[in-house]
Amino acid sequence: MTDTHCPYCSLQCGIRMGPDRELTGRDDFPVNLGGLCVKGANAAELLTHPGRLTTPLVRDRGALRPATWDAALDRVAAAITAAQDEHGPDAVGCFGGGGLTNEKAYQFGKFARVGLGTAMIDYNGRFCMSSAAAAANRAFGIDRGLPFPLPDVAEADVVLLVGSNPADTMPPAMRWFTAGRERGARHIVVDPRRTATAALADAHLAAVPGTDIALANGLLHIAIRDRLIDENYIAERTTGWEAVRRAVRSDWPDRTERITGVPVADLEATVHALAGAERAMILTARGAEQHADGVATATAWINLALALGLPGRDTGSGWATVTGQGNGQGGREHGQKADQLPGYRSLANPEHRAFVADVWGVDADELPAPGVSAYELLERCGTDVRVLLLAASNPVVSAPDAARVVERLGALDLLVVTDFVLSESARLADVVLPTTQFAEEDGTLTNLEGRVLRRRRALDPPDGVRSELDIWHDIADRLGRGKFFPTDPQDVFDELRRASAGGVADYAGISWERLDAGEQLFWPCPSEEHPGTPRLFADRFPTPDGRARFVAVAHRGVTERLERRFPYLLTTGRSRTHYQSGAQTRRSTALDTAEPELYAELHPRLAAATGISDGEGVRLTTRRGSVVARARLVDGIRTDTVFLPFHWAGVNDLTSPRLDPTSRMPEFKTCAVAVAPAGVE
Ligand code: SF4
Repeated sequence: MTDTHCPYCSLQCGIRMGPDRELTGRDDFPVNLGGLCVKGANAAELLTHPGRLTTPLVRDRGALRPATWDAALDRVAAAITAAQDEHGPDAVGCFGGGGLTNEKAYQFGKFARVGLGTAMIDYNGRFCMSSAAAAANRAFGIDRGLPFPLPDVAEADVVLLVGSNPADTMPPAMRWFTAGRERGARHIVVDPRRTATAALADAHLAAVPGTDIALANGLLHIAIRDRLIDENYIAERTTGWEAVRRAVRSDWPDRTERITGVPVADLEATVHALAGAERAMILTARGAEQHADGVATATAWINLALALGLPGRDTGSGWATVTGQGNGQGGREHGQKADQLPGYRSLANPEHRAFVADVWGVDADELPAPGVSAYELLERCGTDVRVLLLAASNPVVSAPDAARVVERLGALDLLVVTDFVLSESARLADVVLPTTQFAEEDGTLTNLEGRVLRRRRALDPPDGVRSELDIWHDIADRLGRGKFFPTDPQDVFDELRRASAGGVADYAGISWERLDAGEQLFWPCPSEEHPGTPRLFADRFPTPDGRARFVAVAHRGVTERLERRFPYLLTTGRSRTHYQSGAQTRRSTALDTAEPELYAELHPRLAAATGISDGEGVRLTTRRGSVVARARLVDGIRTDTVFLPFHWAGVNDLTSPRLDPTSRMPEFKTCAVAVAPAGVE
């Protein structure tokens, strides 16, 4: 039996796998203590899926046909050389994923900058964590999803969850919430739907989608009015308070109620509960953050947490963001992002460039400048970018305004996709390179708590597939740069440790030997003698002056104007059964049987007003596209809002590509939609 971790979400539940692919939860892993959700419990099914790719495919006379590895890689290298000779180094782009191991995320960033010399790299985490990351970096000087271990949730007396639905998305995490409630803790959920999490909570604030800034500022206004703020904490541990205090002066409770739809009495009860608790937490997730003002939204919630003196106060207090993708945390630390080098170093900082270039054995001047964000990279396909290498991502389903993405990918000279199944994006590729899966490889991941974990090889991969580490080495080798790219994951991790040393996300002291010995190590961990850092902010924040920063933000209105043609609000999110673009979970017989098709949740009153019946087809149309889903009438959703799970192709044809000015996060969570019976255009 081999101890490893689930391939799906950021909880990274411990699993134990046997030689016949039997899979159970590991009760010695302190996050899930043996628990698994339906996705993780069925993860082994895909290892032998009949649709699994075991040979490279190359497009020939319009169709993808089996090819040898040499033929496929030669075609990739030739296209890269031709594009760069004609258009320059940035004519080749790399698009990564938050499911890649730390070693692969690190190597992909290095491959782009050293192997290809291109600035054009970003990854799908831009669509996931980028707003919370930018807000946390600005406020605290560091971006670690949970700055404390998940079991600390059980210590909180009050938890405010904003746009977060762990009861559906990561059920094993609920043991810590349940433990808190059994102690008498009070939980409050902000969500336009009465989700499974909201149904378990003590209070549910069904705010209008896209009005979180108004809500958080309104709560802060009441906290100031009722003298609930922590003046000592603000004076001793923060800067920027006066500007925020002034900024929320006009966020009167009745105005907040008018904008958000949350009654004044609920606003007052919420802020009094948070302020009155000895230990309180505010947890945000994608519902709050996947907006074109996502950084400001996360900042508004951080401002409230700081004003109440929560971050770094006690075990069971603070602000945190609940990461989504499996390696959503590690995937954004090691250099896949357009502007970052390993260890959260900055590509724009000459000292950071020199440090990493030295580890890489290249001249700092050779490293390209920062590139562009994920959606902007996709937008450039077929014009500035001629060849795109896509790894562990399925943007045809997961990017906003997805029909436009299909069009751009179709305009490339060459699209190369590495994956283990023919995802919607792989179907458009010119070259498809089949990869190993989670149970067939060694490596590390970093979960939502900043805890670094060992992924272990439990099974041999099928003949014909390769790890991305081998693939990138083999491409670089054809370009004369193979020597820079080791293929043994432990060697890559050891190099990553050196490249991150002294950085914010310092892995220098985290060795595979320590992880294999069972140590639970959270970064930063600067030396092999260091125990790691499970809890941040106890004494100071990692900012130059040691203080957290308030930043004033204001509600600017819902992103897309409602009008007669598009009178309702559309929001998207995850279901209990499927994961991200569904490329994996929709191929699981067990999961596909449980939830076989796209559905739309809407309130019976909205359904009656638009002529929709439960179980029948509903057509949803936005300014960008249209999709048909099966209607589910639910009482717990706002009467002005429709919810779609984003695991099926077509959903993101509807969403808006408007980007946050700082994080470049698209506006996934709110747009104007028309609702009609299917068949009615
Ligand atoms: Fe896997 Fe997440 Fe489910 Fe745990 S909660 S079993 S990590 S998908």
